[in-house]
Amino acid sequence: MELPVLEPEWEFGLFLSLFDVSFLFSFMVICTLILIRIREKEKRKSLLLIKSLCYTKFMGTQQGEHCAGSAFYYDEGADMLKIKNYVRPESLEEAYELNQKKSSCILGGMLWLKMGNRNVGTAIDLSKLGLNEIKETEEEFQIGAMTSLRELEVHKGLAAYTNGAMKESLRHIVGVQFRNRATVGGSIFGRYGFSDVLTMFLAMDTEVELYKRGRISLKEFAAEKPDRDILVRLIVKKKPARMAYISQRNSSTDFPVLTCAVSIEEDGNVKVAVGACPFRAKLVEDKENILKGFLSMEASEKEKAACDFALFAKEQVRTAGNMRASKEYRSLLVQVLVKRALLKAGGENGN
Ligand SMILES: Cc1cc2nc3c(=O)[nH]c(=O)nc-3n(C[C@H](O)[C@H](O)[C@H](O)COP(=O)(O)OP(=O)(O)OC[C@H]3O[C@@H](n4cnc5c(N)ncnc54)[C@H](O)[C@@H]3O)c2cc1C
Repeated sequence: MELPVLEPEWEFGLFLSLFDVSFLFSFMVICTLILIRIREKEKRKSLLLIKSLCYTKFMGTQQGEHCAGSAFYYDEGADMLKIKNYVRPESLEEAYELNQKKSSCILGGMLWLKMGNRNVGTAIDLSKLGLNEIKETEEEFQIGAMTSLRELEVHKGLAAYTNGAMKESLRHIVGVQFRNRATVGGSIFGRYGFSDVLTMFLAMDTEVELYKRGRISLKEFAAEKPDRDILVRLIVKKKPARMAYISQRNSSTDFPVLTCAVSIEEDGNVKVAVGACPFRAKLVEDKENILKGFLSMEASEKEKAACDFALFAKEQVRTAGNMRASKEYRSLLVQVLVKRALLKAGGENGN
């Protein structure tokens, strides 16, 4: 017996009777949501929405509404730092041991941490370990990891040593209350691409003291990926030098578009650090000795050397575009800021 052949319109009608239009529409919306939202929280939210639509379709609106409510609530609280245990260790050894678990986390001022969506097993607060001090001796500054950015900003010894560059590098970061809480440890350990703090310290003779590894240069540390060690303090060796710091921002207190710190030591050694390009700050080595004897040059010679080195830096520093600035604009800024910072540190008008 031959089966009756259905007209295409009939086939479509049959299909529609099985899944009515509203269900089909909901199904398509959910599929789109699942496809485009790849982050874990969005996946969970989409699943809750699927559940809510199924409940609404098959079990009445009350359960559906309840489930949709959960999806909404989930969204509200999704970007959150969740901490299971909070510990204030008595020693660095205890803090280090606790930090070896992947779910553990050292707390600085928590200003960056709190922005994320992270489940922390054990939060380790270093505030009992006396790491919030700046010690100044004839030879060096020792800056504890829990020292706030504000303490760095207002420290008289650092201000004098850096010709005000330290303050200049920090004063644009959000606001005073923020800088009262953000720590040096969190800023350096995080190795953020946008960091004014990392740029400034790179231009000085800085070492980091890590609990297990001991002292290494900041240059080496900055190039590495974060591990599970603890940053105990920064050590800045004092050398007679002239310094300058300049950053470019689209608007006051925003993240920088480019940062530049310069330190010209009296023995002729010059350090130029460029950051926020938008990659992590790096030193631009004077491989061609363009800046040799910079401090003792005449004004016109200084101008020429600064221009030449700025052009060299533009070629050396890798830049990229993002929502704040294009690659081309950043490269141009490298040239402009390096020249200005060199002239400013060298005692000339940098403009
Ligand atoms: C909205 C906003 C705007 C900002 N703008 C700027 C800016 O313009 N310029 C700039 O330079 N910075 C900026 N920052 C970064 C800020 O200055 C701090 O660097 C950042 O908040 C980290 O410092 P924290 O003390 O809050 O560290 P936390 O958030 O507590 O910690 C950051 C990371 O470092 C780890 N950590 C902290 N201390 C130690 C330690 N001693 N040993 C090992 N690991 C440690 C933590 O486990 C965490 O992974 C901004 C931050 C925010 C949130």
